[in-house]
Amino acid sequence: MTTVEQANYALSKILDTGSQKNLIELGWIKNVRVPIPRAIITLALPSYANSQRDRIVQEIRKILLNFSDIEDVQIELENNLEQANSNIENNQPQLQKINGIKQIIAVSSGKGGVGKSTIAVNIACSLSKLGLKTGLLDADIYGPNTPSMLGVSEESPKVFGSGNEQRLIPITKYGISIVSMGFLIEEGQPVIWRGPMLNSIIRQFLYQVEWKNLDFLIIDLPPGTGDAQISLAQSVPISGAIIVTTPQKVSLQDSRRGLAMFKQLGVPLIGVVENMSIFIPPDQPNKSYKIFGSGGGQLLADENNLPLLAQIPIEMPVVTESNQGLPISISEPNTNSAIKFQELASLIQTKFIDK
Ligand code: ADP
Repeated sequence: MTTVEQANYALSKILDTGSQKNLIELGWIKNVRVPIPRAIITLALPSYANSQRDRIVQEIRKILLNFSDIEDVQIELENNLEQANSNIENNQPQLQKINGIKQIIAVSSGKGGVGKSTIAVNIACSLSKLGLKTGLLDADIYGPNTPSMLGVSEESPKVFGSGNEQRLIPITKYGISIVSMGFLIEEGQPVIWRGPMLNSIIRQFLYQVEWKNLDFLIIDLPPGTGDAQISLAQSVPISGAIIVTTPQKVSLQDSRRGLAMFKQLGVPLIGVVENMSIFIPPDQPNKSYKIFGSGGGQLLADENNLPLLAQIPIEMPVVTESNQGLPISISEPNTNSAIKFQELASLIQTKFIDK
């Protein structure tokens, strides 16, 4: 399996055209992580090197995809964050509301695989079950899997008009209006989105979709602190963000970074959801095991003066049903996790609608 050292060594072949120093040494490529089959790096280019960005991104991808076990390369852009911060300080970006949408809730996580999409999908289903008009925008460009979780991966949304007048009709399932990057990307195809391209697609998903009147639009963001979060935060007024994490205290670093980014971007935080808190065996529903340790969610919440909104257990039907396009909130509403999702949705309703 490719190690961080091997990835770092290979990446050290990439040079700055000006100084001819390698980018690892310059600190322009950092935080190299290899959660196989993915590789994640942070690109921290100084503004004077922005013109080299496309070339560097291409070289990083080429080098990392050369490793036989790396299939997907995720590049987080740190200097964009600095740029975004300075925009916020000097010149507040003009946020543009989406007609007809009352509240926008972003669901985010510091890293992938913590159950962010599962939580976004089940919050959407649970809000819909409360009779609230709900939309789901899957902006997770690295793993747009909400269509398969909702059983609509074969569908493609209708588009009419062209250019700036183009409009997209969301797919509807379980009463939820759904738009996903997954409808546009071929399955299994790794995609690289450069900042401007990503920005424009996110804006299209926000403003060129016939969302109709919605009480809530839930946005499933990609993990980490990249362009998608920044584009979103600088486009629409987000009512609040939910940070999803797992119970391991030792792996909170990514979640902390994600949370700090929302603070820097001026997005209000609703709270933390801890997923995979306990494992409930299907044949012994009265037992539970803390297989991933405990306390991570509470610690992250306490550090940031936020509420711990929910602790969702690991239950097998969450995976098995979801693989068949059935979110647990719909297919097994009496399971522990579905009840937690319903409570979470009620909490969101109380906070934003019943005021
Ligand atoms: P992310 O969006 O953070 O990458 P996903 O929502 O895709 O994560 O979840 C990753 C995997 O973990 C999926 O197979 C999903 O079904 C499973 N999973 C997520 N939450 C739970 C849970 N509470 N219990 C059991 N399986 C879960």
